[in-house]
Amino acid sequence: MSLFYETKNIYENTEEIPAIFKAAEGYMDFMTRCKTERTCVAYFQKRAEEQGYNPLEKGAALKPGDKFYIVNRGRGIFLGIMGKQPAAEGVHIAAAHIDSPRIDLKPCPLYESEELALFKTHYYGGIKKYQWTTIPLALEGVVILADGTKVELAGNDYTFCISELLIHLSGEQMGKTASKVVEGESLRVIAGSIPDMEVDKDKVKSAVLKLLNEKYGMNEKDFITAELTLVPKFDPAELGFDKSLIAAYGHDDRICAYTAFEALMQITETPEKTALVALVDKEEVGSDGVSGMQSHFIEMVLERIAPGASLNELCYNSKCLSADVNAAFDPLYPAPTESQNCCRLSHGPCITKYTGARGKSSTSDASAEIMSYFTRLFDAAGIRWQTGLLGAVDAGGGGTVAKYMANRNIDTVDIGVGLLSMHAPMEIASKADVYETIRAFHAFLR
Ligand code: MN
Ligand code: MN
Repeated sequence: MSLFYETKNIYENTEEIPAIFKAAEGYMDFMTRCKTERTCVAYFQKRAEEQGYNPLEKGAALKPGDKFYIVNRGRGIFLGIMGKQPAAEGVHIAAAHIDSPRIDLKPCPLYESEELALFKTHYYGGIKKYQWTTIPLALEGVVILADGTKVELAGNDYTFCISELLIHLSGEQMGKTASKVVEGESLRVIAGSIPDMEVDKDKVKSAVLKLLNEKYGMNEKDFITAELTLVPKFDPAELGFDKSLIAAYGHDDRICAYTAFEALMQITETPEKTALVALVDKEEVGSDGVSGMQSHFIEMVLERIAPGASLNELCYNSKCLSADVNAAFDPLYPAPTESQNCCRLSHGPCITKYTGARGKSSTSDASAEIMSYFTRLFDAAGIRWQTGLLGAVDAGGGGTVAKYMANRNIDTVDIGVGLLSMHAPMEIASKADVYETIRAFHAFLR
């Protein structure tokens, strides 16, 4: 037994590369199709139904081995398998989020200026605003028409873009701090430029409204109730000559959602403990609301799988892996991280004892006992894991849904995949970490 804690690059074992690349294919297909929480939910629901999962109804009398799912308002989905033990004796939960930083339309978004139709937006989540100009964007989401009909906008239909000032005239702009280079109200999206000659004013806006009416049956008022969002319009790509990494929009946190889901789908025998995968919305804006992890929706789910049980006792007996991405060491930006406590690409899922910022503020800070429970579980299953913190002390920080689970009296540990360029329109992850993280969730949930 080694005296040292050491981690290894999973790619050192070249025999595993075909299996790693195979696992990554499924993930890349998912990432090509799913760029919003709603499309993720639809994808997970469809695949679960294909594998014999049934809707979790109120009053359902579930037996060991029964597979269930429940959708939360189209923006979240919980899936699970009933264990041999009663759920009241504890549930094994993997929780991840399926929302990602993006650009949402305002309720009254459309206007015209200088013969261009433009959308006003409000960004969602933590972004460097200047990164979101001059990249192709897709418009996705749902519009509910005056008669109640729900129309889904597929991202592939159109391309949009936020313009940027040419370098030739950027003397003043280049002297600004990065947070001011592109300001929130400048994130406006070009929506059209052909005038409608049948009207006297707002000719281009009128023409765009006509197109929207023809395509979706909507009018300007329908924007008020709609959920419409602009997401990067490019497919995931294999990165580098060896194609070992994946560049994609929204690894945070769909890489953890997918790996937890995939692990659940791979369970073939009835587990001892009931397994539950909780895929939620709104983490990037504080986990609030009916579809965030602070919502009591999870209590309703637990009541349905353990009718009549004490929820407090059930939570006390349960364990949770809060699955969210972490910052992998970037040789270009070593300063804000602390090398010895930073995860590496391709070294497996990263276990994190605490998140938070400025003196561990706002973290659940997992106990030695629950940390050890998971590291022993993973060691016994041959999982290659590592540890890491989100940055050096006082360099910044961040949180996950872990504290909302722990506040419910559930022993919770953070785990996740290390990324480069987190929250940028294109983030970077390792295929090897996708592969090993599926194995880690499987070891916990099976
Ligand atoms: Mn996240
Ligand atoms: Mn995030």
